[in-house]
Amino acid sequence: MSQAKLKANVLKILASPAVKHINFRIAGNHFYNERFTKVAVAIKVGLINVVPFKDFANPKVRGAYSNTSNMLLLHPDIGSASVSRKNQNNVIHECFHAINDMDMVQGISPTEEETCGFIAAAIYEKYHYGKSYYDKKHPMVAMLAILKGSPGYELRNDPVFGELYNLTYEKYARNNPDWGRSNVPNDGL
Ligand SMILES: [Zn+2]
Repeated sequence: MSQAKLKANVLKILASPAVKHINFRIAGNHFYNERFTKVAVAIKVGLINVVPFKDFANPKVRGAYSNTSNMLLLHPDIGSASVSRKNQNNVIHECFHAINDMDMVQGISPTEEETCGFIAAAIYEKYHYGKSYYDKKHPMVAMLAILKGSPGYELRNDPVFGELYNLTYEKYARNNPDWGRSNVPNDGL
Protein backbone atom coordinates (compact mmCIF):
# COMPACT_ATOMS: atom_id res chain seq x y z
CA MET A 1 0.00 0.00 0.00
CA SER A 2 1.41 3.32 -1.00
CA GLN A 3 0.03 6.73 -0.24
CA ALA A 4 -0.26 7.30 -3.99
CA LYS A 5 -2.41 4.17 -4.34
CA LEU A 6 -4.61 5.26 -1.42
CA LYS A 7 -5.13 8.65 -3.06
CA ALA A 8 -5.82 7.03 -6.45
CA ASN A 9 -8.46 4.77 -4.89
CA VAL A 10 -10.19 7.72 -3.20
CA LEU A 11 -10.30 9.57 -6.54
CA LYS A 12 -11.66 6.47 -8.26
CA ILE A 13 -14.48 6.18 -5.69
CA LEU A 14 -15.32 9.88 -6.09
CA ALA A 15 -15.43 9.42 -9.89
CA SER A 16 -18.12 6.72 -9.70
CA PRO A 17 -21.31 7.67 -11.55
CA ALA A 18 -23.12 6.71 -8.32
CA VAL A 19 -21.92 9.99 -6.75
CA LYS A 20 -24.16 11.86 -9.23
CA HIS A 21 -27.18 10.52 -7.33
CA ILE A 22 -26.21 12.31 -4.09
CA ASN A 23 -28.62 15.26 -4.03
CA PHE A 24 -30.27 16.57 -0.85
CA ARG A 25 -30.51 19.63 1.34
CA ILE A 26 -30.11 20.06 5.07
CA ALA A 27 -30.99 23.42 6.63
CA GLY A 28 -30.89 24.92 3.14
CA ASN A 29 -27.38 23.60 2.37
CA HIS A 30 -27.48 21.74 -0.92
CA PHE A 31 -25.22 18.69 -1.18
CA TYR A 32 -24.83 17.29 -4.67
CA ASN A 33 -22.35 15.83 -7.12
CA GLU A 34 -20.34 18.96 -7.91
CA ARG A 35 -19.36 19.40 -4.29
CA PHE A 36 -17.79 15.93 -4.30
CA THR A 37 -16.03 16.88 -7.55
CA LYS A 38 -14.58 19.91 -5.72
CA VAL A 39 -13.22 17.62 -3.01
CA ALA A 40 -11.67 15.41 -5.70
CA VAL A 41 -9.94 18.46 -7.20
CA ALA A 42 -8.73 19.56 -3.74
CA ILE A 43 -7.28 16.06 -3.23
CA LYS A 44 -5.64 16.08 -6.68
CA VAL A 45 -3.91 19.40 -6.10
CA GLY A 46 -2.96 18.59 -2.49
CA LEU A 47 -5.24 21.05 -0.66
CA ILE A 48 -6.60 17.99 1.12
CA ASN A 49 -3.98 15.38 1.97
CA VAL A 50 -4.93 11.71 1.93
CA VAL A 51 -2.95 10.06 4.71
CA PRO A 52 -2.81 6.35 5.64
CA PHE A 53 -3.75 5.92 9.32
CA LYS A 54 -4.82 2.92 11.34
CA ASP A 55 -4.51 3.81 15.03
CA PHE A 56 -8.04 5.10 15.52
CA ALA A 57 -9.28 5.11 19.13
CA ASN A 58 -12.12 2.81 18.05
CA PRO A 59 -10.54 -0.10 16.11
CA LYS A 60 -13.68 -0.43 13.95
CA VAL A 61 -13.17 3.07 12.56
CA ARG A 62 -11.71 3.16 9.05
CA GLY A 63 -11.47 6.88 8.42
CA ALA A 64 -11.64 10.41 9.74
CA TYR A 65 -11.43 13.91 8.33
CA SER A 66 -9.45 16.53 10.20
CA ASN A 67 -10.74 20.03 9.54
CA THR A 68 -7.86 21.54 11.46
CA SER A 69 -5.19 19.97 9.24
CA ASN A 70 -7.29 19.33 6.08
CA MET A 71 -6.39 15.67 6.13
CA LEU A 72 -8.36 12.64 5.11
CA LEU A 73 -7.06 9.91 7.42
CA LEU A 74 -7.89 6.54 5.94
CA HIS A 75 -7.13 2.96 6.91
CA PRO A 76 -4.35 1.50 4.72
CA ASP A 77 -6.84 -1.21 3.55
CA ILE A 78 -8.41 1.51 1.41
CA GLY A 79 -5.17 1.62 -0.57
CA SER A 80 -5.31 -2.08 -1.48
CA ALA A 81 -6.04 -3.43 -4.95
CA SER A 82 -9.65 -4.17 -4.06
CA VAL A 83 -11.52 -1.82 -1.72
CA SER A 84 -14.42 -3.34 0.22
CA ARG A 85 -17.93 -1.93 -0.04
CA LYS A 86 -17.83 -0.68 3.55
CA ASN A 87 -14.52 1.04 2.98
CA GLN A 88 -15.85 2.73 -0.17
CA ASN A 89 -18.78 3.97 1.94
CA ASN A 90 -16.31 5.29 4.50
CA VAL A 91 -14.54 7.30 1.83
CA ILE A 92 -17.81 8.96 0.73
CA HIS A 93 -18.73 9.60 4.37
CA GLU A 94 -15.39 11.25 5.18
CA CYS A 95 -15.46 13.25 1.94
CA PHE A 96 -18.85 14.56 3.06
CA HIS A 97 -17.12 15.96 6.16
CA ALA A 98 -14.44 17.43 3.89
CA ILE A 99 -17.13 19.25 1.86
CA ASN A 100 -18.53 20.78 5.04
CA ASP A 101 -15.09 22.06 5.96
CA MET A 102 -14.13 23.21 2.48
CA ASP A 103 -17.31 25.16 1.91
CA MET A 104 -17.42 26.37 5.54
CA VAL A 105 -20.90 24.96 5.98
CA GLN A 106 -22.34 26.27 9.25
CA GLY A 107 -25.68 25.88 10.99
CA ILE A 108 -25.72 22.08 10.88
CA SER A 109 -25.36 20.21 14.16
CA PRO A 110 -22.62 17.56 14.47
CA THR A 111 -25.28 14.84 14.55
CA GLU A 112 -27.00 16.25 11.46
CA GLU A 113 -23.67 16.33 9.61
CA GLU A 114 -22.89 12.78 10.72
CA THR A 115 -26.34 11.51 9.67
CA CYS A 116 -26.03 13.21 6.28
CA GLY A 117 -22.62 11.59 5.80
CA PHE A 118 -24.26 8.20 6.28
CA ILE A 119 -27.05 9.13 3.84
CA ALA A 120 -24.51 10.22 1.19
CA ALA A 121 -22.65 6.92 1.63
CA ALA A 122 -25.92 4.94 1.44
CA ILE A 123 -26.84 6.67 -1.83
CA TYR A 124 -23.39 5.87 -3.23
CA GLU A 125 -23.78 2.24 -2.18
CA LYS A 126 -27.24 1.89 -3.69
CA TYR A 127 -26.23 3.23 -7.09
CA HIS A 128 -22.69 1.87 -7.23
CA TYR A 129 -23.79 -1.69 -6.43
CA GLY A 130 -27.32 -1.45 -7.81
CA LYS A 131 -28.90 -2.19 -4.43
CA SER A 132 -28.90 -1.13 -0.82
CA TYR A 133 -27.36 -3.40 1.79
CA TYR A 134 -29.42 -1.95 4.63
CA ASP A 135 -32.09 -4.18 6.16
CA LYS A 136 -35.42 -3.42 4.46
CA LYS A 137 -36.86 -2.23 7.79
CA HIS A 138 -34.01 0.22 8.41
CA PRO A 139 -35.15 3.84 8.01
CA MET A 140 -32.27 4.37 5.57
CA VAL A 141 -34.21 2.32 2.98
CA ALA A 142 -37.23 4.63 3.38
CA MET A 143 -34.87 7.63 3.16
CA LEU A 144 -33.39 6.35 -0.12
CA ALA A 145 -36.90 5.96 -1.55
CA ILE A 146 -37.83 9.52 -0.53
CA LEU A 147 -34.69 10.97 -2.11
CA LYS A 148 -35.11 8.96 -5.30
CA GLY A 149 -38.40 10.71 -5.95
CA SER A 150 -37.32 14.17 -4.72
CA PRO A 151 -33.84 15.32 -5.75
CA GLY A 152 -32.68 18.23 -3.60
CA TYR A 153 -35.12 17.29 -0.82
CA GLU A 154 -34.81 19.24 2.45
CA LEU A 155 -34.12 16.77 5.23
CA ARG A 156 -34.22 18.78 8.43
CA ASN A 157 -37.92 18.37 9.31
CA ASP A 158 -38.46 15.01 7.68
CA PRO A 159 -39.59 12.31 10.18
CA VAL A 160 -37.53 9.56 8.52
CA PHE A 161 -34.49 11.81 8.76
CA GLY A 162 -35.44 12.24 12.43
CA GLU A 163 -35.29 8.47 12.91
CA LEU A 164 -31.85 8.30 11.28
CA TYR A 165 -30.70 11.26 13.35
CA ASN A 166 -31.73 9.49 16.55
CA LEU A 167 -29.91 6.30 15.52
CA THR A 168 -26.76 8.32 14.80
CA TYR A 169 -27.01 10.20 18.07
CA GLU A 170 -27.45 7.00 20.08
CA LYS A 171 -24.53 5.36 18.33
CA TYR A 172 -22.13 8.22 18.95
CA ALA A 173 -23.39 9.37 22.33
CA ARG A 174 -23.14 5.83 23.64
CA ASN A 175 -19.50 5.56 22.61
CA ASN A 176 -18.47 9.08 23.53
CA PRO A 177 -20.18 11.20 26.20
CA ASP A 178 -18.36 14.23 24.80
CA TRP A 179 -19.82 13.66 21.35
CA GLY A 180 -20.61 16.95 19.64
CA ARG A 181 -19.06 19.08 22.35
CA SER A 182 -15.57 19.38 20.93
CA ASN A 183 -16.62 20.11 17.36
CA VAL A 184 -14.68 23.01 15.91
CA PRO A 185 -16.37 25.13 13.24
CA ASN A 186 -15.66 24.32 9.62
CA ASP A 187 -12.90 26.70 8.65
CA GLY A 188 -12.37 26.18 4.93
CA LEU A 189 -9.08 25.17 3.36
ZN1 LIG B 1 -18.49 11.05 10.30
